[in-house]
Amino acid sequence: MDCLFCKIISGKIPSNKVYEDDKILAFHDISPMAPVHVVIIPKEHICCADKLNEENSQVVAHIFSKIPEIAKLLNLENGYRIVNNCKEDGGQTVLHLHFHLLGGKKLNTQLA
Ligand code: 5GP
Ligand code: ZN
Repeated sequence: MDCLFCKIISGKIPSNKVYEDDKILAFHDISPMAPVHVVIIPKEHICCADKLNEENSQVVAHIFSKIPEIAKLLNLENGYRIVNNCKEDGGQTVLHLHFHLLGGKKLNTQLA
């Protein structure tokens, strides 16, 4: 499958990893939008939030259960933002479900 993030999972494309387990991977974004900008992805290819369902959404709970640990590794004790862009209108450019973890400064509050 021609998916950039699947290639990062398989190691075909290198990444600067922050956290990995059997279900998920977190790595630094190649063009950070904040002093800390990490992308968290499931290892299972799910294209986007719009394709989540009862069968595949447990991994989202797993990602969120690990966010405090990942945030701690990144010294984000003062807080952070989690963002998901979904499909074209949401600004998603890589069609493999991912959550942006942003922090390291006081982020502006504009959401859209
Ligand atoms: P999206 O716009 O789909 O929500 O987020 C995709 C993110 O992936 C972008 O923030 C972009 O900078 C990041 N990205 C794209 N290609 C690469 C890459 O090859 N390596 C890494 N580490 N991040 C990437
Ligand atoms: Zn993929």
